[in-house]
Amino acid sequence: MNVKVEDWQVKQMKTKWGSCNIEKKRIWINLELAKKPERSLEYIIVHEMVHLLERHHNHRFVAYMDAFLPNWKALKAELNRLPVSYVDWEIECQTSQSSPVSPIFARIGKAVGKGFHQVATFISY
Ligand SMILES: [Zn+2]
Repeated sequence: MNVKVEDWQVKQMKTKWGSCNIEKKRIWINLELAKKPERSLEYIIVHEMVHLLERHHNHRFVAYMDAFLPNWKALKAELNRLPVSYVDWEIECQTSQSSPVSPIFARIGKAVGKGFHQVATFISY
């Protein structure tokens, strides 16, 4: 993609799967994606990275998505069928130290290693 992400973090978010700060080249990924298929995570990462190339959801944005992730429309439709839940994660995080966090780090590492280069490795939770 030839895009450099300076920083990325996993956060709990109530309404969004991911967000992107274009000026700071920073991407936030919803912790909830750890429960979704890996392809959903990849879709969100690509979507947010494309925002580093194009801020708006316009025809340029769509063209980038088509180029980088040709099946993105199906992935988006699938993810939109899944609600962004939040409350049950709080409970899980309190009762289990490692399980909610480590799988998503492993998955992001895999997704990032598979498709993207020069991604900063700073993680905070
Ligand atoms: Zn967007």
